[in-house]
Amino acid sequence: MDKNVKYRIHLSPPHLSGTETEMVARAMESGYIAPLGPFVDEFEEKFCKYTGYPYALAVSSGTAALHLALLASGVSRGDIVFSPSMTFIGGVSPVYFCSAKAWFFDSDESWTIDVNLVKEKLFAVEKSGADKPKAIIATDIYGMACDYEALCQIEKDFGVNVIVDAAESLGASDRYGKRNSPKTAFYSFNGNKIITTSSGGMLASHDKNLIDYAKHLSRQAREPYPYYQHNTIGHNYRMSNILAAIGIAQLSDIEARIERKKTIFQRYKNALGTIPGVEFMPCGVYGESNYWLSVIILNSESRISPEFLRVTLEEKGIETRPVWKPMHLQPVFSGAKFFSKFELGANPPICEIAFERGLCLPSGCGLSEAEQEFVISSIQKALYK
Ligand SMILES: *Cc1c(COP(=O)(O)O)cnc(C)c1O
Repeated sequence: MDKNVKYRIHLSPPHLSGTETEMVARAMESGYIAPLGPFVDEFEEKFCKYTGYPYALAVSSGTAALHLALLASGVSRGDIVFSPSMTFIGGVSPVYFCSAKAWFFDSDESWTIDVNLVKEKLFAVEKSGADKPKAIIATDIYGMACDYEALCQIEKDFGVNVIVDAAESLGASDRYGKRNSPKTAFYSFNGNKIITTSSGGMLASHDKNLIDYAKHLSRQAREPYPYYQHNTIGHNYRMSNILAAIGIAQLSDIEARIERKKTIFQRYKNALGTIPGVEFMPCGVYGESNYWLSVIILNSESRISPEFLRVTLEEKGIETRPVWKPMHLQPVFSGAKFFSKFELGANPPICEIAFERGLCLPSGCGLSEAEQEFVISSIQKALYK
């Protein structure tokens, strides 16, 4: 084992910009040890400037941000929401907080939601006279944005709110130049994401009314009276001023983080990409990724399975993780509708192949070259053994 590597190599641990401690101290000294406060406002402003969304609301998690986006889109009991099957539970469960239910869609070759299939279903629903979905969740996968242009067109043509799950993809979406983004997006600052506030999230939108209403709901839906007046049920979802201080520090070097992640991805690809049976996740289909996680694919020509590789690397103190298990295969969603462009039984759905064949590799911004070389040589040994 490489002498430089003394500890466990994690998948995507938090990475410090360097000014976090100072910012937290400033927040403490200011006395705003509370939800709300000047750093929350500053974080929202800086976030808007970076992403290009004119309005944003800092909240306690990405999951909370999605819940508010759905409520502000009018999702309620019995409604249908379209969602990709290839996603994380926090990108779907808020549909069920609203007592609505999800119809799950396969991915296309980019691994993001199959927009042609979504359009087909929308036409079919329209023709049948049934209720349209109240919202469509479109998830950016491992830092790769989905087809924003097609999604904007769907918003226009069908009048359905698209909510981009950009939990993993901060910095990817604004690399499109002048291309549009759908009306609403949400981000996560959980510990494993490209920037973190330990826990936190952001709702962002081009629609001021949506953000205003979400803000109202995030503060227990308190009406502007001197006493406590409530006309609807709200939530306690605001971000604390202390965590916003961390967020400002983390956001300050986002471009350097993306560069780091890209270098890590390219090093994996250069070292391993030409080995028979080895591929890498699709990248850059709809613009540039932020390369949040590097994902290796061991296709049917590979002599070993991703699970064998995972266990082999784990024995060396290297953490890896399978690609998202599709939602339509989750026991909690048994019986939910699932659509794929492949006839049942003809070809396995793309999200199922990704789950069977993919493995996420250590991709933290703090991963040293020596550590990555150790990961690479360990993978090479496992593949040639
Ligand atoms: C992390 C993540 C979320 C949830 O964000 P939290 O801040 O953990 O609540 C939702 N969707 C995707 C795709 C994620 O990766």
